[in-house]
Amino acid sequence: MTGRRVVIVGAGFGGLFTALELERQLRKEAGVKILLLDARNFHLFSPMLHEVTSGSVEPRHVVWPVRALSGKRRFTFEGREIRSIDLERRKVLTDHGEVGYDKLVIALGSTTNFFGVKGAVEKAFPFKSLQDAVRLRNRVLELFEKADLEGDPERRRRLLTFVLVGAGCTGVELASELHDLIHGPIAKSYPRIDFHEVRLVVLEAAGRIIPCVSDRLAALGLEKVRSKGIEIRLHTPVIGVGDDAVELADAELLPTATVIWTAGVKANPVVEALPVEKDKLGRVVVDECLELPPFPGVFALGDAAHCWDPRLQAVLPPTAQVAVQQGRCVARNIARELRGQGKEPFVYRHQGDLVSLGTGDGVGEIAGLAFSGLPAWLLWRSVFLAKLIGWKNRVRVAMDWIVAALFERDISKLEW
Ligand SMILES: Cc1cc2nc3c(=O)[nH]c(=O)nc-3n(C[C@H](O)[C@H](O)[C@H](O)COP(=O)(O)OP(=O)(O)OC[C@H]3O[C@@H](n4cnc5c(N)ncnc54)[C@H](O)[C@@H]3O)c2cc1C
Repeated sequence: MTGRRVVIVGAGFGGLFTALELERQLRKEAGVKILLLDARNFHLFSPMLHEVTSGSVEPRHVVWPVRALSGKRRFTFEGREIRSIDLERRKVLTDHGEVGYDKLVIALGSTTNFFGVKGAVEKAFPFKSLQDAVRLRNRVLELFEKADLEGDPERRRRLLTFVLVGAGCTGVELASELHDLIHGPIAKSYPRIDFHEVRLVVLEAAGRIIPCVSDRLAALGLEKVRSKGIEIRLHTPVIGVGDDAVELADAELLPTATVIWTAGVKANPVVEALPVEKDKLGRVVVDECLELPPFPGVFALGDAAHCWDPRLQAVLPPTAQVAVQQGRCVARNIARELRGQGKEPFVYRHQGDLVSLGTGDGVGEIAGLAFSGLPAWLLWRSVFLAKLIGWKNRVRVAMDWIVAALFERDISKLEW
């Protein structure tokens, strides 16, 4: 097993966990080179992004430098932007030349899906990267400064109306955190603003929120979020985003200066451009071993892959827990193939879902047991703290939470 090169593109949940597991599997086979490529030099822990926006967690504490991991390990990290993949020539084309591979793992994740809604790409705030989280935080704080000086009541109400499109996990968690930020430290700092004028509106095209949990828990979550004063409008598709308003399917114009897009994802453009079978979101269709059927030795996973689960009779959702489990499976299969053994099919084991609904509140299901309120929130914090990469970040985030509980959250803009 000498002189073989495994290239993993993307150091997010799927890619990083492939590299870590591959290294474990190939500990004794020094001849195999493992190369991990990503345009960013850090791994982002996206489940805590809404806490970055609300200021309860510092931005740097949810990212981990990949080189710090690879330095002590067998895999090599290179900071390269992937431009395209030539599956016939077995080459990855990057901003710094071509990289050849024997085995390839495509873990390039997804991008925000604006569903072709007019004005959304240009005017809505996406919520996917660290930069998005900080940009949104700055926007909210900036609008309160403007509203404080705005004499015209109509213009002030528009500045103080925050609209989120999409009531999935991300939209609902973000709305709840924004509510805590606005009605906590911001409210104390702007005594001239009447906080009854502030509106947080979540628009959802479907008839329910947080699709990852059961109908019963979703209904409970809806009740809890509404009781905070967050407006959730179901069966309300958005058809346009303008400078001063969002346009709804029934022709209503909802005045707002901020539209936040949390309505879904689609495949990364590099993945979408691959000449293989894809679904309507541009994700590549993989077989039961997560391989691209016409190209042996090429695997795709996480948000980049359309993976049918025969037991659930459904396509697996774009979540970190799916990506991590797929990464480990791909790594085991690559190791098996390199040793001349057959591959094993991927079997997804759902561990549960937890949704934070702001300080002290949440809903979730783990191992078939349902949780809500404070227990769900404490579980959310414990589970995600444990899943963060690196002890340094776990300690930092725990300290951030303690500081945010003891003192007021910071409301300074982060400009750099
Ligand atoms: C705000 C938010 C909250 C979430 N909360 C949860 C949650 O609570 N639980 C859960 O299970 N899931 C959650 N998710 C979903 C989860 O983050 C994704 O499903 C998961 O990250 C998918 O893993 P991945 O490896 O496919 O992609 P990613 O983790 O996104 O990794 C893709 C990597 O590819 C790199 N990349 C992309 N394009 C290029 C290129 N052209 N060149 C080089 N590198 C490139 C990126 O820099 C990135 O590092 C959340 C997502 C968001 C945005």
